[in-house]
Amino acid sequence: MRRLLLALPFALLPLATALAASHDHEHEHHEEHSSLDAHEHGAAQLNIVLDGKVLELQLESPAMNLVGFEHAAKSDADKAKVTAARSQLKQPKALFGVNAGDCSVRKAELESPLFAENAHEHKEHPAQDQGSEHNDIDAHYIFDCQTPDELKQLDLAELFKRFPATQKIQVQLIGPNGQQGLELTPAQPSLSF
Ligand SMILES: [Zn+2]
Repeated sequence: MRRLLLALPFALLPLATALAASHDHEHEHHEEHSSLDAHEHGAAQLNIVLDGKVLELQLESPAMNLVGFEHAAKSDADKAKVTAARSQLKQPKALFGVNAGDCSVRKAELESPLFAENAHEHKEHPAQDQGSEHNDIDAHYIFDCQTPDELKQLDLAELFKRFPATQKIQVQLIGPNGQQGLELTPAQPSLSF
């Protein structure tokens, strides 16, 4: 956790700065949602840290990309979509193509307002009409890798395939060869450490 937090300012700073420049007047309305400053449907952020035998991933995605809506699930159909997405997101080895390095999942933690059992009554209006209700799904993973030297790359093809509304993922990567920022897409889903 501590290692990843060190990486976050690198990931968030450029977008936060850009938004601050163009949307100064909106700031007072959004201060409680500062983590959503980068919220853009179709896009997600991913922080990756490979340090020794520990691989840590933190995905921050608009819920739209993963379940197709951002309001609390009320209908059975919506609840089923949320359940299906949660179940997929609990399988990070497949989603992120962690296919080498003898890695096992130590932690797979999901967090989102959509997972709350009781939706707030006053938020029942359709989010699309109001333009004000945006929610993320965040996932935090920690892997223990026995042979991390063999982990040369990650391949997110499966993530793009299972969540086709995800069009691009901004990655901040810190690994044995230093730090890099890159953008992954369905056409270019893999990265090298
Ligand atoms: Zn949204």
